[in-house]
Amino acid sequence: MAAAVDAAQPPSNKRRLSTGPDEETDENQAMQGQPHNPFKLTPPAEAELFDFKAFILDNQEYKIGENLSILSTETEPYYGELLRIQAMKNDRRNVYLTMRWFYRPHEIIGGRRPYHGENELLKSVDHTDRIHVASVIGPCHIVNLVPGAEKEITGFYWREEYTAVKGKILTELPRYCTCSLPENPDLPLIQCDSCEKWFHADCVGFVMEEFKEEDPWYCPECEDAGVGEGSGGKGPVKKQHKTAAGKAKPTKKQASK
Ligand SMILES: [Zn+2]
Ligand SMILES: [Zn+2]
Repeated sequence: MAAAVDAAQPPSNKRRLSTGPDEETDENQAMQGQPHNPFKLTPPAEAELFDFKAFILDNQEYKIGENLSILSTETEPYYGELLRIQAMKNDRRNVYLTMRWFYRPHEIIGGRRPYHGENELLKSVDHTDRIHVASVIGPCHIVNLVPGAEKEITGFYWREEYTAVKGKILTELPRYCTCSLPENPDLPLIQCDSCEKWFHADCVGFVMEEFKEEDPWYCPECEDAGVGEGSGGKGPVKKQHKTAAGKAKPTKKQASK
């Protein structure tokens, strides 16, 4: 997890920190679900703190704006964006971090939506905490997945902003298909070769294995309207749209004719 720091361009105000002897124990406790609260520390008063642009922990440099994994009381870590780095004037090893938290879909009001992918997170706009640097596990790569952009991603991503205060999703994702729901990045979305609208493969009974890439595919509405009949089988190229690398799976449902 540790990475070499670019010695040629050291960040200004960098702090070198050593991990305390208890941290391994703390992490193990957290992983085993033992009572453990990394946020129990009461930060010092604002007047006692300096602001910094970066800090170094176990040879890993962290900068404002980056995403971090943080020790949690649950089986999975907390994930957050580093908003602010502060240290005490008289003890610069005591570093405090202001984190803006990401939520996992099951943690939001209303729970996981059907269009939420397995590795999806929601970015809170109003839930921040100041934590001690000893709670940092390591960097965390979280990609902002922009709707409509073709992007192969591995690991975590976020599409929606969430207000923890109001318990509401703030982002309006594009809606597709007969069900009028957003794309689930784990599942294939297919485009009709006639009307060019997008559909969840599951919703229209599309079976990946039964189609060749060069075969045209028409949505139920276009099929009902007789599109594609007598075209001699030579149609436009079917497009498959997926945004999560290696996650797209064809439906196991049989096509309903
Ligand atoms: Zn659908
Ligand atoms: Zn269509």
